[in-house]
Amino acid sequence: MPIYEFKCQECGEEFEKFVISASQVGQVKCPKCGSEKVVKKISACAIGGSDSGSSSACTSFG
Ligand SMILES: [Zn+2]
Repeated sequence: MPIYEFKCQECGEEFEKFVISASQVGQVKCPKCGSEKVVKKISACAIGGSDSGSSSACTSFG
């Protein structure tokens, strides 16, 4: 089941989100502050970052 963990870069909120397709990942918003600046906590960045337009998602949590 495609449930991804996200972390908000604005307020630091960590949450899980059911995501059907990769395109939806770019539409995920923080449930706490509503920011769209969220990053996936799983290492899916190697797959491609198709629509995020930012490579920071791969390096922001090391
Ligand atoms: Zn937030």
